[in-house]
Amino acid sequence: MEDIIARIEQRDPEQKEFHQAVHEVLETVRPVLDRNPEYRQQAVLERITEPERVIMFRVPWMDDQGQVHVNRGFRVEMNSAIGPYKGGLRFHPSVTLSIIKFLAFEQVFKNSLTTLHMGGGKGGSDFNPKGRTDGEVMRFCQSFMAELFRHIGPDTDVPAGDIGVGAREIGYLFGMYKKLRNEFTGVLTGKSLAWGGSLIRPEATGYGVVYFASEMLARRGESMEGKTCLVSGSGNVAQHTVEKILQLGGRVVTLSDSSGYIYDEAGIDQDKLEYVKQLKNVRRGRIREYCDVHVDADYVEADPALDYNPLWAHKADCAFPCATENEINERDAANLVKGGVRLVCEGANMPCTPEAVDILLESGVLYGPGKAANAGGVAVSGLEMAQNSMRLSWPAEEVDSRLKQIMKSIHHTCVDAAAAYGSEGNYMVGANIAGFVKVVNAMLDQGLI
Ligand code: NDP
Repeated sequence: MEDIIARIEQRDPEQKEFHQAVHEVLETVRPVLDRNPEYRQQAVLERITEPERVIMFRVPWMDDQGQVHVNRGFRVEMNSAIGPYKGGLRFHPSVTLSIIKFLAFEQVFKNSLTTLHMGGGKGGSDFNPKGRTDGEVMRFCQSFMAELFRHIGPDTDVPAGDIGVGAREIGYLFGMYKKLRNEFTGVLTGKSLAWGGSLIRPEATGYGVVYFASEMLARRGESMEGKTCLVSGSGNVAQHTVEKILQLGGRVVTLSDSSGYIYDEAGIDQDKLEYVKQLKNVRRGRIREYCDVHVDADYVEADPALDYNPLWAHKADCAFPCATENEINERDAANLVKGGVRLVCEGANMPCTPEAVDILLESGVLYGPGKAANAGGVAVSGLEMAQNSMRLSWPAEEVDSRLKQIMKSIHHTCVDAAAAYGSEGNYMVGANIAGFVKVVNAMLDQGLI
C-alpha cells in the first residue's frame, strides 16, 4: 500500500489534491484487500488510481475588447467499469490537473454509491467566469466545447455543472455540442427544463445533503428540527442545503463566498434565501451585499493571514461546508467541536482536510463525507439521463421521492459496509469500502483492459 502511494506521489509530485484523495481511500480499503487476496494479485489499486484517459486542450477565446485569451481545458475519464463517465465541469482560476483528477477519483466512488450505472469523470478549465459578460462566457464555452465534443456522448461521457458552471454555461455548452454533432441528445445534465432538464436537478445536491444528514441524526434518535446550522458557500449547493434545512425546521445563521461570510443571528429564512438566490444567480453579486438589506446581520471579510476561518467558530449544532475543498482545517475542526457542533455533513467535495476529519471522528462528531452526502446531485443527473433516454419527464414529486430513497439507500450502504469491516458508525470508511468494492468487482469481471 505504501509503495503504491509513494509511486503515485513520485510520478506526479505536484498533484497534492489528488494524492490527498487517493490516500484517504486507500487507507480505508486496506481491510478489503486483506480479505480479498485476488485484488492485490490483479493490481486493482494501481489500476483504479490511474485514469483511463486524460484529455488536456487549449481553449482560445476573445473578450469584448477584442483581446485574445488562452485557457487550459481538462477532461479526466477516470473509470468506466460500471457505466459511462459522469461528472461535472468546473470553471475556476484554481483549476489544475491535480484538482480535476482528485474530483474524478472521488466521483468514481460517489457514482458507485448512487445505485445507478455511472462511471466517474470530471473536467473543467482555469477560466474565471467572474466579472465576464454573457457574451464572453458564451464564446469561452463554445471554444471549450469545440474540442470537448470529440470525447463525450450520451453513452460515453456525460458532463454536468460544478463550481462556475451553472444553467447559463450548460446552455452554451449544449448549444455548441448540438451544432457540431447535429444531434439533440442527453449529452449534458443540468439542462433547462424546456430542453431536456429534470425537475429537482438544481435542488438535488443540497436537498440530498440534508436528507443524508437527517438519516445520520435519525440513527441517534434526533432530527433537523430546531438545529442551528453553519453553512458555507452561497452557490447552488449552499442555497438548496439552506432551503431543505429550513423546510425541516432547522435554523441557518451563516453563508459565505470567497470574499467573506455573513452571520445572521435572527436566522436566514426563506425570504432572505430568495434574496441570496437573486443576488448570486441573477445579479452575480457578492455575499457582503446581504448586509445592505438585512442590516442586523454581520459581514466578516476573509483574512488570508488567518490560519482558520471564523465562520466555523460560531456556536451551532450542525455544519454544512458547501463551498470548496480543504475549507475546514484542523483548527476549524477544533473550533467546531468547541462550539458544540455534533454533525458535519459535506456538501462540497473534500472540504475537510484529513487532520480535520481525524479531530471530528475522535471527538465523536457525526461526519458525513462528500462522496456519500453530496451524491444526490449526480444521482438526479442519472435520473435526467434516464428521462432523456425515454424522452419523457417525471413530475417533481417523483424525482424528489427517488432522490430521498437513493440518499436513504446510500446511508444504509455506508452503515452496513462500515460495520462489516469493523468500523461501526464511520461513514467515511463505509462510503469508501462500498464504493470501491462495486467498481473493483466490475473491473475484474471485464478483464484486464
Ligand atoms: P457554485 O459555483 O454554485 O458556488 C460555489 C460557492 O463556493 C460560491 O459561493 C463560491 O464563492 C464559493 N467558493 C468557490 N471557491 C472558493 C474558494 N476557493 N474559497 C472560498 N469560497 C469559494 O458551486 P456549487 O455550489 O455547485 O459547488 C460547491 C461545492 O459543491 C464544490 O465543492 C462542488 O464540487 C461540490 N458539488 C457540487 C455539485 C453540484 O451539483 N453543483 C454536486 C456535488 C458536489 P465565489 O462566488 O466567491 O466564488
